[in-house]
Amino acid sequence: MNPFTFVTAGDVPAALAQAAQGARFIAGGTNLIDLMKGGVLQPARLVDINRIRLDAIERTADGGLRLGALARNAATAYDPLVREHYPLLATAILSGASGQIRNMASNAGNLLQRTRCYYFYDTDTPCNKREPGSGCSAIGALARQHAILGASEHCIATHPSDMCVALAALEATVQVASARGERAIRFADFHRLPGDRPDMDTTLAPDELIVAITLPLADGFRAHSAYLKLRERLSYAFALVSVAAALDLDGGTIRAARVALGGVAHKPWRDPAAEALLVGRPATDEAFTRAADALLQGAVPQGAGEGSNAFKIPLARRAIVRALVVATAGTVTNLGESMQ
Ligand code: SF4
Repeated sequence: MNPFTFVTAGDVPAALAQAAQGARFIAGGTNLIDLMKGGVLQPARLVDINRIRLDAIERTADGGLRLGALARNAATAYDPLVREHYPLLATAILSGASGQIRNMASNAGNLLQRTRCYYFYDTDTPCNKREPGSGCSAIGALARQHAILGASEHCIATHPSDMCVALAALEATVQVASARGERAIRFADFHRLPGDRPDMDTTLAPDELIVAITLPLADGFRAHSAYLKLRERLSYAFALVSVAAALDLDGGTIRAARVALGGVAHKPWRDPAAEALLVGRPATDEAFTRAADALLQGAVPQGAGEGSNAFKIPLARRAIVRALVVATAGTVTNLGESMQ
């Protein structure tokens, strides 16, 4: 690990002042420390933001919820308001990582975690995300975990978060602060597709600090939601495909639908046009399959031979239908402690 300066900030202005001097924020450190140990990132200055009181989870005036940026993933998943009003989010968070990591990882850090592309972490291989212009080692090689949607000729990585898939389905907003003031970023606009700048994961500026994530009222979806995660092994693994599905049902008819995918693109993947196909339709396998086909329109496999991820396209199609079937049956609210 390279030498670096470590300072602490007690409030948001102090943290922003450090960022203006080029410091990088650290909270739980569950991804950043790994990246530093592996030489993937070599920040010269870190500012510890853990002492800033940004960990509250509270109702908003419009009936939604504000999740503090520094609330831990575990505290968020087990928060009574989250469990009651956003069970989809609680389930998605508990599908990710391990209990120890969820106890450390902050909500903001979850949004900012980097891809788990094997080549990104291997500093002996070319990677446009780690070293712009060096090339992409995944294209045409082992790429089972990689994208089938929204990839570019420069990068085919996926975003690894489970929490973010649920936040996309719930149409969250990211609240950020900087020396220029505060702004709100729609979740759909927060993460980027790789394009020709795969080194940029998000639309957040380097000197901006996430202070909260807000959720609009979504009680219409709470009775019929499901998070389905498919992975190489049953615990402590990133998704090959995941689906956050939420339905607002009027009897057997769909009033509104949300479907977001994880493990398939550089950002949580949603297509409002595919969701619109479900509105006013009966909640049947036939309707779900039509929506799945629309959502996966344009999917392209990556990799070669046994390293190909072509299996992800039919897997995602079946996972979307399955998640919608499970959501129709009713939200499972017993999260238990047994989810890894
Ligand atoms: Fe790097 Fe992206 Fe290629 Fe992976 S897929 S090697 S992260 S450029």
